[in-house]
Amino acid sequence: MTSPTRVLVLNSGSSSVKYQLLDMRDSSRLAVGLVERIGERTSRLKHTCLSSGETREQNGPMHDHEAALKAVAEELAKDGLGLDSPELAAIGHRVVHGGEFFTEPTVIDDTVLLEIERLIPVAPLHNPANLTGIRTAQALRPDLPQVAVFDTAFHTTMPESAARYALDPRIADRHRIRRYGFHGTSHAYVSRETARLLGKDPAEVNVIVLHLGNGASASAVRGGACVDTSMGLTPLEGLVMGTRSGDLDPAVIFHLARVGGMSMDEIDTLLNKRSGLFGLCGDNDMREIRRRVDEGDEQAKLAFDIYIHRLKKYIGSYYAVLGRVDAVAFTAGVGENSAPVREAAVSGLEGLGLGIDPELNAVRGDDARLISPASARVAVAVVPTDEELEIATQTYALVGRE
Ligand code: ADP
Repeated sequence: MTSPTRVLVLNSGSSSVKYQLLDMRDSSRLAVGLVERIGERTSRLKHTCLSSGETREQNGPMHDHEAALKAVAEELAKDGLGLDSPELAAIGHRVVHGGEFFTEPTVIDDTVLLEIERLIPVAPLHNPANLTGIRTAQALRPDLPQVAVFDTAFHTTMPESAARYALDPRIADRHRIRRYGFHGTSHAYVSRETARLLGKDPAEVNVIVLHLGNGASASAVRGGACVDTSMGLTPLEGLVMGTRSGDLDPAVIFHLARVGGMSMDEIDTLLNKRSGLFGLCGDNDMREIRRRVDEGDEQAKLAFDIYIHRLKKYIGSYYAVLGRVDAVAFTAGVGENSAPVREAAVSGLEGLGLGIDPELNAVRGDDARLISPASARVAVAVVPTDEELEIATQTYALVGRE
């Protein structure tokens, strides 16, 4: 019998599950889909089979992740891709927080589940949802290897000088307070793809990766290993994001509590959900913000300028951290699509060897590409991220058999 070559990638959020089924012989996608609003009466599953091009929807209540995953399994089965297929090699799960413990993708057993559970206090929103996804998938296929791929793992190579806050280590360690970083699967994939674009071995190149989606983070990658990243204990630190403030003076929180009379929960919601671009101008979609800027909207212009100012500060500081930079790579929704953001972020950094060719920057496309002039000392690149492919690749590398 031939070895199984398919990997199902599951990304379970608190009320959603995203999934992709890939064939690892050629990394092709067989099916993709999304279940939204799990636990509500208006749950919706949207499933696309790539070989037939057919898209189907299921609408109606899905009470929990078990119901959602069963519905996903049904849709896959209709395309002859069911979870009982002998061609399925493993299920790869995105797990947001792996703490210091998980430095690599890991085959899930009871000890691994326990450790992911122990990390819930530092990832109260994400890890419980990821665990539910894993347990439900295990119940559906108890015999199948399930692999956890952690968002934090790529950042575990950060030196202590970058990973620690300037806090008493006894207090920090007691509460597991340190900079973990997130989006690691994307930073790993994009830094490697950038090296490939330059025709070099990842071990030879230093890259600043700018993952600019609704959530956003930067990382400094030296010779394939992360040495610093902008998100910290939680995804709140760092760049200005769609709805998160990113860096601010921690005393702002005391001030909002003492002078503003806000509760801790209210401040948490303010900083995570009602700040960033949205808090500044009422929109978190960069397309809309740029449209408003082009119409002369001052509030949108200020939001854009604050976003760019922060981005520039991180490019500069990671330049200093790395000493030598071979490439700056833009990725995720904003990074891949917004030429004005890329142009503004790099403008004025000619002294650092950075520049953008406006014509190359204006080209749209799905492939990794250089947008710097041929003469530039530092390459500037657009490198589309593919977290699902990276999860599938890491999963298959762990369980795939010849
Ligand atoms: P996440 O995975 O963090 O939800 P994405 O990486 O999909 O986010 O990025 C989503 C964001 O990308 C949107 O909020 C929007 O600001 C931005 N975006 C998407 N398409 C474009 C575009 N064509 N031009 C500018 N920005 C875009």
